[in-house]
Amino acid sequence: MSKPATRRRRLVRLLAREQLPALLVCDPVNVRYLTGFTGHDSFLLLAGKLAVVISDARYTTQLEQECPDVELLIRPTGTTMAQAVAQAAGSLRLRQLAVESDWLSLSQFQALEKELEQVELVPRSGLVERLRVIKDAEEIALVRRAVAVAQRAFQATMATLRADQSERQLAAELEYAIRRLGGEGCSFPPIVAVGPNAALPHAPVGPARVNAAGVLLVDWGATWQGYCSDLTRTLATARPSKRFAAAYQAVLEAQQAAIRAIAPGVPCGRVDQAARRVLEKHRLGKHFTHSLGHGIGLKVHELPRLSPKQQTPLQPGMIVTVEPGVYLPGRFGIRIEDDVLVTEDGHEVLSTLPRELERLQPAGV
Ligand code: ZN
Ligand code: ZN
Repeated sequence: MSKPATRRRRLVRLLAREQLPALLVCDPVNVRYLTGFTGHDSFLLLAGKLAVVISDARYTTQLEQECPDVELLIRPTGTTMAQAVAQAAGSLRLRQLAVESDWLSLSQFQALEKELEQVELVPRSGLVERLRVIKDAEEIALVRRAVAVAQRAFQATMATLRADQSERQLAAELEYAIRRLGGEGCSFPPIVAVGPNAALPHAPVGPARVNAAGVLLVDWGATWQGYCSDLTRTLATARPSKRFAAAYQAVLEAQQAAIRAIAPGVPCGRVDQAARRVLEKHRLGKHFTHSLGHGIGLKVHELPRLSPKQQTPLQPGMIVTVEPGVYLPGRFGIRIEDDVLVTEDGHEVLSTLPRELERLQPAGV
């Protein structure tokens, strides 16, 4: 049985436990996970043994190649998605149909309601995501490749760093390097922030140049066959101030404490707490303004969430980011982010770039 077929079987069992007779999978990432189809604008109707991908003629050949073991309903031009779903569901005599409320737009929902008069639509969130949270060996291998490509792209970009490069140019160089190395692209638009811009956790890239800004924060990731990596490094591009160097050591200590805490059965909140406690000890707690980390996989932000009060226990096969940061508005920001696999007996850090504070001398200064 193919991987996607096994996943569909597990999902059908989950639906049965939730007393849902059928699910309309709308999020393209979930459709991909359950079928292998990498295109867009296509829904998967899953009910017991029935699995139908509802798509249009742009994708017929691709669907036949990528997911030969599902039924296809190619809607003719002029037929809406909602009409096609009604056609696919017609013979099932469903009373209820769960739909993915995190993805479906309100107008799509209303169109479905109109076409499926006899069926109660049940908005549900997180069903497929519950399966996706645990990665199998193949998925772990793909995330490893995504990490490796991101790291090599970063090293190549930093090796040619010039003082006159702008944040925007560096982001473009990173993306180019990822693609040149065989990656599909960036797993999200890279954050490249120099000087005080690094104090914005999600800084937009702009025209600011590396120059003697002193601090360079890069948060980036690559995609490999759909799977994502997500890393951050903060570098000194001039002699670091004492305050910066001390804060950097505190963030690194916090990150290492959190990574040490990662093991099966440990509640996610406790990992967050391990980092937060270190930063509080260094009187930087109030400058750590976001959660510690998140799952990665087919999406760059997935379950589980490493945030305070999260009781979800870690399980082998989860891959999470560990990314404590401190942000001093108007001065600087520091974040160190690595990707960590939860293993049977603890954890494995998948990313290997140096973490000690590095002083990089951009050419042209
Ligand atoms: Zn990141
Ligand atoms: Zn992240």
